[in-house]
Amino acid sequence: MTRLVVAVAAVVLLPVVLLGAAVGALGGGADLAIPVGASGAAGLAIAAVQAGFTGQGLRLAVAVGLAESGGNPTAQGPNPPTPGCPAGSTDRGAWQLNTCYHPEVSDACADDLGCAAQATYRISAAGSDWSAWTTYTSGAYQAQLAAADQALATLPAANAVGGVPPGDGTPGPCGLSPATDYTKHLVTALFGISDIGGCALFSGHVANSDHYPDGNGQAHAIDVMVGANTALGWQVATWAAANADALHVKYVIFAGQIIDFREPTRAWHACRDPASSCAVEHFQHVHISFEPLEPIL
Ligand SMILES: [Zn+2]
Repeated sequence: MTRLVVAVAAVVLLPVVLLGAAVGALGGGADLAIPVGASGAAGLAIAAVQAGFTGQGLRLAVAVGLAESGGNPTAQGPNPPTPGCPAGSTDRGAWQLNTCYHPEVSDACADDLGCAAQATYRISAAGSDWSAWTTYTSGAYQAQLAAADQALATLPAANAVGGVPPGDGTPGPCGLSPATDYTKHLVTALFGISDIGGCALFSGHVANSDHYPDGNGQAHAIDVMVGANTALGWQVATWAAANADALHVKYVIFAGQIIDFREPTRAWHACRDPASSCAVEHFQHVHISFEPLEPIL
């Protein structure tokens, strides 16, 4: 019995070391901000990294969060009266922080992915003690470890060029540059949007559009389709702008507004020409353009 446990522990350690190296790159330079409105495993992963979790504690933070709430930042779980909590209690947010045992965590904090991750970091003693979470003590979290590892693997890797993991980017004649493809994957993972336009062969967009392939056959823009869901559009647009450095964003357009990171003042403003494509064509999708990524030698 003891030997078996030791063997299992040794197997579990290997991916932790690799993940620790991969996530270490987030500590310096352009960090990804916690996505407004994000959810799921990818949202948990970024929030947990930002809160300070590392190594095995980071894996467990994502896996326990998935087991507790599926990564739903505003999940609510009512509990009946118990001897310790005679008035009953409520489990709140992505990590289901309990009103009775953790009244110091406000409802607003519990329902905010970033704040909840920080509270979870404190309550779990920096990821070393998960005994307060029933999905940990029951072992239910184990079924979520693979999903946690997958989410963590999408975070910027230590050996990535400019923070873009190796393997991102699709080939020409009409593909996507690595940085463009990486953000496309993140938008799908963080916001659940899979209807995303990319490369176009020199039609359907303005002249010199970043949707048209460059000399390598790769485009540098995506259109994130949000339909009539303007709130979701702003979540994506705000997230892309907040992470412009890490994602190599050149500019973002949504709902008649643009933020252009080539301008000296990095701020949202109305599209300057009210008759332009910028002003009139970006209400049902968020346009994100990217800088060409220069390899680090
Ligand atoms: Zn576009």
